[in-house]
Amino acid sequence: MDKRKLKQYEIKLQELRNMILGMVERTEDYGREADRDVSQDPADKASNSYTKELLFSQSTNERNTLRLIDEALERVAEGAYGECTNCGEVILQKRLEAIPWTPHCKNCQELQEKGLLVEKEG
Ligand SMILES: [Zn+2]
Repeated sequence: MDKRKLKQYEIKLQELRNMILGMVERTEDYGREADRDVSQDPADKASNSYTKELLFSQSTNERNTLRLIDEALERVAEGAYGECTNCGEVILQKRLEAIPWTPHCKNCQELQEKGLLVEKEG
């Protein structure tokens, strides 16, 4: 991948990272507020725990994406960005434009979704 293109992806990844970090912080603030708001009404309590559950699963997704973004930034630093971490194939630009943090080419992504991909550690 040429240096200018790589730099563009790096900037995009860093912007996304900041954006998600901001979202995670706001979600955590909101969660703490929900904690403080102790209500005696059982209906309120139920909706409160539902909200917390929802916020938690949301922030779990955000944290997963953050991890993938961090890993993508590491690959930028190592000069391995844009190559599938599983099979080493070059990932299509179109795919990187849509999901800049993706570690896999389309084929390997499909394998992973079917549970057929065994990720090598390290
Ligand atoms: Zn692959």
